Amino acid sequence: MKEKGILLKNIYALMTDPAKEALSGVDMLIKDGKVSKIGKGLQKEEGFRVIDGSNLAVVPGFVNTHHHFYQTLTRNLPQVQNAKLFDWLVYLYEVWKYIDEEAVYYSSLLAMTELLKTGCTCSTDHHYVFPQSCEGHDLTGAQFKAADRLGMRFSPTRGSMSLSKKDGGLPPDTVVQSEEKILEDSERVIKLYHDPDPMAMHKIVLAPCSPFSVTKKCMLESSRLARKYGVRIHTHLCETIDEENQCKAMYGLRPLELMQECEMIGSDVFYAHGIWFNDEELKTLAKTGSHIAHCPSSNMRLGSGICRTREMLDLGINVGIAVDGSASNDSSDMLAEMRNALLLGRVKYGSQALTARDVFKMGSENGAKMLNFGNVGRLEEGWAADLACFDVSGIAYAGSHSDPIAALLFCGCDHTAKYTIVNGQVVVDDRRVVGIDEEELAKKANEISAGLLEKRRIYG
Ligand SMILES: [Zn+2]
Repeated sequence: MKEKGILLKNIYALMTDPAKEALSGVDMLIKDGKVSKIGKGLQKEEGFRVIDGSNLAVVPGFVNTHHHFYQTLTRNLPQVQNAKLFDWLVYLYEVWKYIDEEAVYYSSLLAMTELLKTGCTCSTDHHYVFPQSCEGHDLTGAQFKAADRLGMRFSPTRGSMSLSKKDGGLPPDTVVQSEEKILEDSERVIKLYHDPDPMAMHKIVLAPCSPFSVTKKCMLESSRLARKYGVRIHTHLCETIDEENQCKAMYGLRPLELMQECEMIGSDVFYAHGIWFNDEELKTLAKTGSHIAHCPSSNMRLGSGICRTREMLDLGINVGIAVDGSASNDSSDMLAEMRNALLLGRVKYGSQALTARDVFKMGSENGAKMLNFGNVGRLEEGWAADLACFDVSGIAYAGSHSDPIAALLFCGCDHTAKYTIVNGQVVVDDRRVVGIDEEELAKKANEISAGLLEKRRIYG
């Protein structure tokens, strides 16, 4: 049921902006998809829903800046549980080549359900596998259908791969497309789905996959097309030393130099991972306003390295947080990802590297800025009513109430939000995702997953 408006009463702890003190005992009025008022003793309007906030720690909804939803169907495969990136990819391409529109739709539902349940209100998705068997299918459209069903704010990328094994790339022929087809479909999805409104529910990003799976021409032309329509540009960059070596061998360039040649750098560009930049390159990122989607769990899982988050933030680089694909995480637990960002930063720099407030800012406002949303990522009057509400009254948070907001990162054994609200609508209600049968979805996803693995087994 569509909410006319919501009155959150007597909130136990409310973080409007990580830079400010949390509020306690206040109400929040939500109307027309926005935070309308915050204060004490607010009155609801006719037909508004009232939610008791007396056990809730409420924070701006999280923004996930990098994912591969389809990978939820190939999580945790024993064959690549202990592999590093390139070996892991080479095995998995041979499973992913069997995905179809149904797999994309259900994996999108699955990933977004998990994201919403863990407080994430807005996400991108880097979908770059367009098997030849899906020619003419609208895979991006299937993703928007899933997002709309769940009510998530969504800015997927039209990803691409154009450099296959025979041309020195990593993926097999079956999952790459010609540059012409990629550009044609990229333009189609921008025209069909992109909404330039800063608080839109739908946006589009163009995202050539990586230096080792896309031709230079495709990267350059994609950048130019994205700029023609004012959409963001995204790719994987500086994830591993193998990538750096391959880039040097193929082009005689370091990965960021390649980006410069392909015009894939600037304040409209965000890179996933960004681990292996040197000092000079960090300065270049800062100077150009390029953004970084930090993926701590995936980086640990694949042993890729540790992103230089503290130094980036100090240089003024916009760093957001991302769960990355579910074959290298292997979950879409956004709150866990933020905890891992906090902890991994401390492994590298010591206990004062990142504070909980730094991480909340990275996880919400920085992410929204990266994806080109405006007035999203804080809970102030006039900003989007995108919020995550966690019940901190139970065992997992007992003893932590001197700072119930930071407790969400330092404590907790279950990251399920009591309520998640997107654009003024309750999408997780009493810990369950609205409008979907979670058990049925899990069953369906398991069936599709088994089907993909079976095809890999039979046909290779
Ligand atoms: Zn990725």
